[in-house]
Amino acid sequence: MRISEVIRRKGAEVVTIRPDETVTDLLALLAEHNIGAVVVSVDGGRTVGGIVTERDVVRHLNSTGTSVLSNPVAQVMTAEVVTCSTEDDLQTLARTMTEKRFRHLPVVEDGELLAIVSIGDIVKNRIDELQAENDQLVDYVQR
Ligand code: AMP
Repeated sequence: MRISEVIRRKGAEVVTIRPDETVTDLLALLAEHNIGAVVVSVDGGRTVGGIVTERDVVRHLNSTGTSVLSNPVAQVMTAEVVTCSTEDDLQTLARTMTEKRFRHLPVVEDGELLAIVSIGDIVKNRIDELQAENDQLVDYVQR
């Protein structure tokens, strides 16, 4: 299944934050939207400037302490973001996430942010895909 189909099913909403907003602002966004990652963007989500996830916050809480909560997101985010395109397929993305050990991939086309895919989206759609294949095979042998 292509990522364009995953986006069609789940929608293209991406929660973003400016790099000068604080880690406390970030935590509020993660809690409000019940998500684990936010794209950092200077232009309201048109382009990707970084990515910041709950893991970054936990890591910095451990190394810096609670003072990190008033620091700007820019200090805890990852600036070199690996992205994918709508033409990529689920299995390629699953491999990328496993190899690179992260759970979120922004979808970018012509330099513009379109959507974000999480490992949860991949697992859900892969199960749907395998279930559909299984149903077809059962249907075939029972005919
Ligand atoms: P995650 O497993 O998505 O919570 O991310 C684990 C670590 O990888 C964190 O330091 C993230 O900032 C970073 N990270 C997550 N997604 C990406 C991505 N698409 N490109 C680069 N780094 C990422």
